[in-house]
Amino acid sequence: MTLPASLDEAVAALTAMPAAVPVAGGTDLMASVNSGQLRPAALVGLGRISEIRGWQYQDGNALLGAGLTHARMGRPDFAALIPALAAAARAAGPPQIRNAGTLGGNIVTAAPTGDTLPVLAAMEATLVIAGPGGARRETPVSHLLAGRDMLGAGELIGFVRVPLLHAPQVFFKATGRTGPGRATASVALVLDPARREVRCAVGAIAPMPLRPLEAERWIASLIEWDADRKLAPDACAAFGEYVAAACIPDPAPDGTQAAVPLPPAVLHLRRTVAALARRALGRALS
Ligand SMILES: Cc1cc2nc3c(=O)[nH]c(=O)nc-3n(C[C@H](O)[C@H](O)[C@H](O)COP(=O)(O)OP(=O)(O)OC[C@H]3O[C@@H](n4cnc5c(N)ncnc54)[C@H](O)[C@@H]3O)c2cc1C
Repeated sequence: MTLPASLDEAVAALTAMPAAVPVAGGTDLMASVNSGQLRPAALVGLGRISEIRGWQYQDGNALLGAGLTHARMGRPDFAALIPALAAAARAAGPPQIRNAGTLGGNIVTAAPTGDTLPVLAAMEATLVIAGPGGARRETPVSHLLAGRDMLGAGELIGFVRVPLLHAPQVFFKATGRTGPGRATASVALVLDPARREVRCAVGAIAPMPLRPLEAERWIASLIEWDADRKLAPDACAAFGEYVAAACIPDPAPDGTQAAVPLPPAVLHLRRTVAALARRALGRALS
């Protein structure tokens, strides 16, 4: 395994060995190797690249290194900066996974259950991608998750640019069991007072986080932004239902007059999403 000390050295190593695969914490990659799904010809380890293991402030944004571990993002200083991402990182698997697993690995694996992904979608975060010859380009996280943009040969995620909103933000996750577990559904919700926006993303129920844009706009129009962000008491519950119905719609009519009911498991999931979204909005406004 090659262990470069800088992002550009890692890019150069990948460019020189096109069959090599980058590895950060290895929590996802080694699972694929152990199950025989992946047999990398060579590995380029990212664990010694100190420039991507921290964060810095830049023009009202936090520039997060792709090598930040979940454990590091869960600490109080990070939680003061981006509370929803810290909550997602704290919820990501058992301690040994959080100690090794990284933000960049979570994004590239792009599992529906990736806990940081709905937060990054709600924050409208962008990726800073390092490429051959010192090149840097930026793309929204959502473009990578949707397959509208891909990492090219030799490219690595260097940083994640997250706008600092200085307002309440929440991440809630349902696992269907007690203790650490993969999400059955998750909701990230952020308030953006400067733009008078509520942004919400629902994770785990589709291949990528879903943004219920109409529900976001509707609830933002009801909030009294200049009066302590007041909202009518029943609006949180209505928002939860709106989000859930947008993300898990009723089945299309089948041509008969009778409405097609949702299967019980899907109905349960819809209720879970509604409850998470209602609680998230209530917490953010409380
Ligand atoms: C038991 C267990 C429980 C888990 N529970 C959860 C959970 O609850 N929530 C959750 O979200 N995840 C969970 N995970 C998944 C995993 O821990 C996360 O996805 C983790 O963030 C992956 O990061 P990593 O550094 O280990 O990635 P790696 O395994 O090192 O890499 C994953 C992929 O990303 C690529 N990659 C890594 N870094 C970069 C980079 N900078 N640029 C380009 N490509 C890169 C690798 O080539 C590889 O394809 C769990 C995993 C296990 C094994």
